[in-house]
Amino acid sequence: MIGVHTQLLCADQVEQAARILRSGGLLGIPTETVYGLGADGLNPDAVARIFQAKGRPQDNPLILHIPSADWLERYCADIPPLAYELARRFWPGPLTMILKRRDMVPDAVTAGLDTVGMRCPAHPVTRAILEAAGTPVAAPSGNTSGRPSPTCLADMLEDMDGKIDGIVDGGPCDVGVESTILDLTVSPPRLLRPGGITLEQLREVVGEVAVDSAVTRPLAAGEKPRAPGMKYRHYAPKAPVTVVRGEPAAAARYIRRHLADGDGVICFNEFVPLFEGHPVEPIGPKDDRAEHARRVFDALRYFDGTQVAHIWAQCPDSAGLGLAVSNRLNKAAGFHIVEAEKP
Ligand code: AMP
Ligand code: MG
Repeated sequence: MIGVHTQLLCADQVEQAARILRSGGLLGIPTETVYGLGADGLNPDAVARIFQAKGRPQDNPLILHIPSADWLERYCADIPPLAYELARRFWPGPLTMILKRRDMVPDAVTAGLDTVGMRCPAHPVTRAILEAAGTPVAAPSGNTSGRPSPTCLADMLEDMDGKIDGIVDGGPCDVGVESTILDLTVSPPRLLRPGGITLEQLREVVGEVAVDSAVTRPLAAGEKPRAPGMKYRHYAPKAPVTVVRGEPAAAARYIRRHLADGDGVICFNEFVPLFEGHPVEPIGPKDDRAEHARRVFDALRYFDGTQVAHIWAQCPDSAGLGLAVSNRLNKAAGFHIVEAEKP
C-alpha cells in the first residue's frame, strides 16, 4: 500500500515525537516496562485511534503517563498522602496508581470509570517527550489486542507498522513486563496487576496490600472484574499454552514426558538440552527472575513465527518478579496449569 507508513524516530528526536502527540497522532513510545502506544490523553479523538489501531475493546481503560508526580493534582482528585509516598519511593518507575479522576480526563481514557490509572515511566527519552508534549499521554501496551506485549522496537512494528504515525527507538525494555497496578481508592490498597514493582516492595511502604483474585485465577462465570480489562484473554500466542508448575527439575521432566512431536517449550536455561529437536525459548537461568521478566513476552511471541501445535512453559514461583511472570504465562495459557509431581 502506498502512503501508509510509520516514521521511525531516534532517541534525540524528542521535538518531532512531541509534535505527533500534540497534533493528535499515535506514537510508539519506549518505556522501561514494554513499548507503549501513546496519544494525547486529553484528546478523545486521538485516544479513540489507540483502540482502533490495537483492536482493543472500548471498555478496557488506558493508563495516563506523566513526567512527574507534580502533575497528579491536574488529573486526580482526593489524592491520599500514600500516593505521594509511593511516588517518592517508586517513580519514575513501573508502578501505576489507580486514583479518583477529575472531570477533565476524557471518558475514552477511563472507559467511563470514575478512576484513572496514573504512571510516571522511567525511560529518559519518553519522559523528555512527555515534558515537551506538555500533555499527559494515554497509553496501553503497543501490541495488537490479545497478543504478547512488545519489549523491543521490532516487536511493536510487527503489530503496528502502518497503523501509527511514529515510533521512537529507545532500545530494548529493561523490565519486560508491564507496570504493577495498585488501586488506592479502596482500603486496603489492592493489587490489580503484578508487574515491575513487586508485592514485597509495595508491602514495605504500604503495609497491608490485598491481591485481587483475578491475579492468580480466571474469573468465574458471571463474576465482575475490578477493571473491565481484567476480563480479557491476554498475551496469548496462536498455539495453546500449558504452564507446568513445580520445582524446576521436576517440571522439566514432566514436560519432557508429555511433549509431542512439533511441540515448543519455554524453559529455564539449565533445561534446554532436555528438549533437543523441539523449538525452545529459554527465559534465563532458573533463579534469575528479572531475566524471566525481560524474556517472557519475546518467548511467547517467538512461537507465532513457528508451526508449533502446543507450547509447554516452565514457570517461576510467585516470589518477587515471579508473580508478574507467572501471571503473564498463566494468562497466555488461559489458566491451563498443571502441577509437576514432587521429585
Ligand atoms: P495495558 O498496559 O495494555 O494492559 O493497559 C492498561 C491497563 O491498565 C489495563 O489492564 C487496564 O485494565 C488497567 N487500568 C487502566 N485504568 C484503570 C482503572 N481506572 N482502574 C483499573 N484498571 C485500570
Ligand atoms: Mg496490554
